[in-house]
Amino acid sequence: MSANHHSFRGNKSSLPSKPCVACGRPMTWRRRWAKTWDEVKYCSEACRRAKGSA
Ligand SMILES: [Zn+2]
Repeated sequence: MSANHHSFRGNKSSLPSKPCVACGRPMTWRRRWAKTWDEVKYCSEACRRAKGSA
């Protein structure tokens, strides 16, 4: 039983996704990215460092 149904308009089968700019793997929307999804470019810290734009 799930108490939180309002994470992404309740449509779990159509979460957004986009490719990581470093490794090209598809990233599926995660709750931790809810506020920064448009800015998310890397699937992981490793990829962020690999591209080294920090
Ligand atoms: Zn990646």
